[in-house]
Amino acid sequence: MLISSAIAPLPDWLWKAFVITFGLVIGSFLNVVIARLPHGESIIRPASRCPSCSEPIAWHDNIPVLSYLLLRGRCRGCSASISVRYPVVELLCAALFLAVATKFPPGWLLVVRDLPFVAMLLAITFIDIDHRIIPDELSLGGLALGLVTAYWVPGFGLWSAIFGALIGYGVFFLMSWFYYRWKGKIGLGGGDVKLLAMMGAYLGPTGVFHVVLISSLAGSLIGLSYAFILQRRGQADSLMAVAIPFGPFLVIGALYVYLLGDVLGLPVQL
Ligand SMILES: [Zn+2]
Repeated sequence: MLISSAIAPLPDWLWKAFVITFGLVIGSFLNVVIARLPHGESIIRPASRCPSCSEPIAWHDNIPVLSYLLLRGRCRGCSASISVRYPVVELLCAALFLAVATKFPPGWLLVVRDLPFVAMLLAITFIDIDHRIIPDELSLGGLALGLVTAYWVPGFGLWSAIFGALIGYGVFFLMSWFYYRWKGKIGLGGGDVKLLAMMGAYLGPTGVFHVVLISSLAGSLIGLSYAFILQRRGQADSLMAVAIPFGPFLVIGALYVYLLGDVLGLPVQL
């Protein structure tokens, strides 16, 4: 299969190899975003340093996945172990980019809309797990990008993005209301509402409904199992006392709808 008119014809394998490499490089950048953005630090400077000995990391020790394997997960200077999460984020980013490039046609929209969307979702997931926050730079920045680029998406358009964002925003209030009634406390944060609005700008009104459905289901199942395990170990007083970040479940729902929705018969891109 050859890539169509958008760029010069490339053999399919070469295009995919390029997308995977690009995904690894962006994944490496996302590691910096995940580590620095919640602290309000610049994601451009300074260059990456070892968290233990603060030695700057040379470019040849900073090659995605490969350097981690060659250095056996340790800093060259002080031998402190490096979290396996770094290569995992890089590999996840490469896998997501490959999935996006397989689903959507090559072209400028892929570069300015589809790949940034999944990259931002990946960063949001790990920042929410680490800090229980979703930075506005990602959620509101992503919302703006989703709205601005929607006009050029065939069969989607600006209105789908606007309605999607509004419904994502509105549905959140319903969800947080039910959650409040159920648990008697506020469980869904303001970060989640902006994230759902952002997702609406990419997935449209129907898509965002599916996200809510899937993420609530996944969140309840995994959240309750997790709480049950903690309770069995005596680490939690009651099932209801355990709080887990909801952002990652919204991301799972969004990726499912975005990448697999039409395969599995969900009417997504309205
Ligand atoms: Zn070190």
